[in-house]
Amino acid sequence: MKKRIDFFLKCLLLVGILSWTSCSKDKDFTNLPDNQLSADDQPFNANLKAGNTSGIIMQGFYWNVTAGGTWWGTVQGKVSSWASAGITAVWLPPCCKCQSGNQSVGYDPYDYFDFGNFNQMGTTETRYGSKTELTSLISAAHSAGLKVYADIVINHNAGGSLQANPNTGGNTYTSFIVASGLFNRGYNDFHPSTYEKSDEGTFGSYPDLCHVSPYVSGWLWSNSNSVAKTYKSMGYDGWRFDYVKGFHPSVVKSWISSAGGFGVGECWDGNVSVVQSFVSASGVSAFDFPCLYAMQTAFTGGNLAALSTSAMLCKSNPSKAVTFVTNHDENYITSNKLLAYAFILTHEGTPCIFYTDYESELNKTKLNNLIWINKNLAAGTTTVLYADNDEYIAKMSGSPGLVVYINTSSSSLSRSVTTNWTSATIKDYTGNVTTTAITSSSKTVTISAPAKSYSVWSTQ
Ligand code: ZN
Ligand code: ZN
Ligand code: CA
Repeated sequence: MKKRIDFFLKCLLLVGILSWTSCSKDKDFTNLPDNQLSADDQPFNANLKAGNTSGIIMQGFYWNVTAGGTWWGTVQGKVSSWASAGITAVWLPPCCKCQSGNQSVGYDPYDYFDFGNFNQMGTTETRYGSKTELTSLISAAHSAGLKVYADIVINHNAGGSLQANPNTGGNTYTSFIVASGLFNRGYNDFHPSTYEKSDEGTFGSYPDLCHVSPYVSGWLWSNSNSVAKTYKSMGYDGWRFDYVKGFHPSVVKSWISSAGGFGVGECWDGNVSVVQSFVSASGVSAFDFPCLYAMQTAFTGGNLAALSTSAMLCKSNPSKAVTFVTNHDENYITSNKLLAYAFILTHEGTPCIFYTDYESELNKTKLNNLIWINKNLAAGTTTVLYADNDEYIAKMSGSPGLVVYINTSSSSLSRSVTTNWTSATIKDYTGNVTTTAITSSSKTVTISAPAKSYSVWSTQ
């Protein structure tokens, strides 16, 4: 989450964009053209198994998915097809009962132990469904071979009752007597508390949890029946931490040391040193916002050279970078979006694919092909071979590695580059260019990319 007003405006905008884009194309999934390859049918060479091994995440929701308690079931119906396409983990939206009841997207948490099984806030089920439906989804994801990540909102709470607050001298909405009976809270569990006046940030005027309080840290992670350990025992394998700028990164570090699992933080900042500081202090991965902003400049702003010149977490700390093009909060890449996916899936980092992009907005067959390329070819480190405003060419040095050519101009382009391969026949694994090429004894070759498209080359 970001600042509240900004946030809600953005959400309105996003909802508008999503409903606009979803109507015409949402039949892609069942209506693939016959001449396109499924992920299983990709050209495959048994020697080509050196791709990205850090996995690919699916963000399994968008802002304001259909309400009515059917979402867990919808996602359950997708997990096996995602797994066969090469997705390795799914990030689910926040699963507990929130102030806005069955309308809540999940970022206004009220009762961390109500998963749609207590009648409060006007509803038993959450927007996404019941506890039974959630646990069924988690088992289905595991059966398909996917990890499941929980969205954890622990900066703030919402929906408490008004109480006299001696710490402020006034009345605050800080009384949380919840139906689960677990983790009731009062004024001293929030800032300002007797432990600490404030922390790194607040989310609007929502009561801001004081993690320094032993009662709060006990319930959130350290007790045997804490939120972290309970969610782990429900089958969650990892965590996406919301709004980590709102509290100290040691909170995340303690959570992981108590409950284990993969972690990624939403440290929303375009400055790679800010994001790196969060990674160093928390020990978990971070969404690569610096990469996102560079891609916005490159793909929406018409300057692909920004991909070469900009600092990104996936360049400076690839094993901790979760790269992404769109999420539930933003949709910055408004043109050449598939090309942005071609970028993140042919570079370092753990790519995270956005539900709407995959299921309705973009060509699923082309995304599945890029996922295949990521898993099978994208290894080693990147060297940029050429970049200007409408062309970007880079190679990954692994074995066999790849050369990616992105072209946002309106004509087909070609260029001579130096590869890692000596006198080798290479082909474009995307199928966008159908002719093969042969590298010289000095590893040079001329490759091409169609207008507003891309090609990804490797040994045949
Ligand atoms: Zn957020
Ligand atoms: Zn339901
Ligand atoms: Ca805070």
